[in-house]
Amino acid sequence: MAKQGQSARASGDEAAGVAPSSALPLAELFRQKRREAGLSQQELAERCGVKQSAISGFERHGSAAQALSVEKLRQVADLLGIVVDEAQVKARPHAARLALFYCPDPDCPSTHVYPLGAQTAYRPRFVRAEAEVPFHCPDCGEICEKRCPECGTPISERLRGAFCSDCGKPLVAGDRLTAAAIAEREVCRAALTAAIPAVEFRHGREGGGAGGD
Ligand SMILES: [Zn+2]
Ligand SMILES: [Zn+2]
Repeated sequence: MAKQGQSARASGDEAAGVAPSSALPLAELFRQKRREAGLSQQELAERCGVKQSAISGFERHGSAAQALSVEKLRQVADLLGIVVDEAQVKARPHAARLALFYCPDPDCPSTHVYPLGAQTAYRPRFVRAEAEVPFHCPDCGEICEKRCPECGTPISERLRGAFCSDCGKPLVAGDRLTAAAIAEREVCRAALTAAIPAVEFRHGREGGGAGGD
């Protein structure tokens, strides 16, 4: 019969694909199943309503790419006929598209308080969380900010500090604190950072998988 378009070029890969699929890391299994289905990354992405770069990122770096939300991961897996067990999904540190947030409450121990001349400045401790959901501070429950309240500039890892780099507005507004109160807050903050260092936004390589292959 004439070539059916999709499956025509799968034959050459067959020798490499003999390993039982369940033994493969999830990312490789995704790639393998996608190819077996005759789908390009772009085609798969379109069917699942995600970007091609998300598929590419996942296939290259697995969960570490943080390219797919849990829901999307399940959806893609479903489409490819892959059974993803709960442990594999739960092992993912943060599954969705991430955004930086900070707690706007100057009394919250997550907020880094320090004297700046005669003033007290409040430097927010950024955390990353799913971008679409309103993020609540894990320490005080306050709804966190992800952009400058004054000018709307999104918070970024390059803009760590007490003030908005665009408009100069303090990110966290609050009253002056006494030196003792600041010291107390510092102890609290240090303990907090030691307890959950992974939450602190470090040096992500966000969106690393843009190119297809
Ligand atoms: Zn808080
Ligand atoms: Zn601003």
